[in-house]
Amino acid sequence: MKDYLVKATTTDGMFRAYAVDAKETISTAQKDHDTWSASSAALGRTLIGSLMLAASVDKSGEAITVKINGQGPVGGIVVDSDSKGHVKGYIQNPHVHLPLNKKHKIDVSKAVGVNGFLEVTRVSANEDPYTSSVPLASGEIGDDFTFYLAQSEQIPSAVGVSVFVNDDNSIGAAGGYLIQTLPGASDDAITKVINRIKEMPMISELLLDHQTPEEMLELIFGKNNLHFLDKMPVEFYCNCSKQKFAQDLAGISVDQLETMLKEDRGVSVTCNFCQSKYRYNEEELRAIIAAAKQKKASSK
Ligand SMILES: [Zn+2]
Repeated sequence: MKDYLVKATTTDGMFRAYAVDAKETISTAQKDHDTWSASSAALGRTLIGSLMLAASVDKSGEAITVKINGQGPVGGIVVDSDSKGHVKGYIQNPHVHLPLNKKHKIDVSKAVGVNGFLEVTRVSANEDPYTSSVPLASGEIGDDFTFYLAQSEQIPSAVGVSVFVNDDNSIGAAGGYLIQTLPGASDDAITKVINRIKEMPMISELLLDHQTPEEMLELIFGKNNLHFLDKMPVEFYCNCSKQKFAQDLAGISVDQLETMLKEDRGVSVTCNFCQSKYRYNEEELRAIIAAAKQKKASSK
């Protein structure tokens, strides 16, 4: 089944809710980056949280970049996503595998570390990019998104993100939910939701049991208490191309490019986000150098 994300509000108007099944999305990330269990969980949870955060933005066309670095063994994580269900990302150290924690789960907190920040940059068409960051709450990623929404956006929320990794490193299940409290929510209703979340099985268990995103939200709010507003496909998608990287290369110094031409008779670049490789031969690199010179001349 293809990955998708659902958006809903509760019939009492107190909550907004999002849920996503992202197994294929996280599987693509796992294969592209050859991630091992702890790295898969850390990158996967960040991809899932970012997808839902981007989907929760009202302005269409806005894109977000999420950066997490907690000084743990996986190093930095960078994820880009947009409101149309596209997400891409990478992790500094893809080959991290750790012993399971006390709850027999992947120790994401240890892998990510807690001495650092979660940073979100929002980019929309006609506005300057806006960045805000919060200290990491636990390095478990879900808690960190929750803390970010409460601190930076003043929206009391609950974020659950989960990735189940099989013994052969393939992804068994991946998904999550994001719940936002709307201004009219009563304390009673909020307590009830918190308790439901505590009582319900882990998200990865629900997904392994073939529960849908709709069913996950129904478990939290009850069957007839939701209006589903939208269902949107999601995927790991990178928009890089040989032409785009050529434009980036034309932005570096002419000296550097000429050294590459002389010493390597061309240049190869790898996309951080999807690991695609692009090779520019001598002739192509000469064209890039010409573009770089032109750029320099026109900026004078
Ligand atoms: Zn790419």
